[in-house]
Amino acid sequence: MNVEHVRTWLNEYQQRLVLVQGLLDELDNRIGDGDHGTNMLRGFRAACEQMREAASPSEALHKVSMGLLSTVGGASGPLYATAFLRMSQTCRGMPEVSLKDLSDGLNAALAGIQQRGSANVGDKTMVDVWAPAVECILSDPTEQGLLEAARVARQAALKTRQLVARRGRASYLGDRSVGTCDPGSVSSAILFECLAITLVDGMEAEPWTTQVL
Ligand code: ADP
Ligand code: MG
Repeated sequence: MNVEHVRTWLNEYQQRLVLVQGLLDELDNRIGDGDHGTNMLRGFRAACEQMREAASPSEALHKVSMGLLSTVGGASGPLYATAFLRMSQTCRGMPEVSLKDLSDGLNAALAGIQQRGSANVGDKTMVDVWAPAVECILSDPTEQGLLEAARVARQAALKTRQLVARRGRASYLGDRSVGTCDPGSVSSAILFECLAITLVDGMEAEPWTTQVL
């Protein structure tokens, strides 16, 4: 993965966010405050703007982190910013990042998300998607592993529907959070999907709306 791949990945993600902003806002409306899609789109617009001049993967990922931090006030902003900061640190000094190094970077990102947000698997947060997706790519750091990670991430996001939220705003609802997919899990699954689309030939986006709502 070179700097152009990072740009393609996150530009693709930003374009997907334009399409799913309403969906993410609607999910967050049901179990939070209705702003997750708006937050994400605002954040990644700024992030993509900032990374335009970056010369290396590490620099691009760092600029994304800073862009998110300065524009997203919600819980998800600092969590995604931490994830991209950790990836940037792992990739430091690498003009080209191998899939093995990328999997280490994603693993560091997951650790950062968990340090910052103290959520575990099963708490109905983005960790429910990051943990199995990272495990998948760590155990098989190949194009096949990336495809599988995207598939696992989607399934994990859909499975958050049946969970009770124990972290973040949705936890205020307790049992009433059951029945709605976690918005941050859906946005995270789409991030993994865009990564696979960028790095694996022939991978295509699948629609979300009918499955999630
Ligand atoms: P806010 O909750 O401040 O309105 P967003 O709506 O943008 O922020 O983001 C909500 C998402 O953030 C949730 O769907 C969840 O996935 C994620 N989230 C919230 N708190 C945590 C946490 N402590 N750890 C991990 N993820 C979290
Ligand atoms: Mg919200």
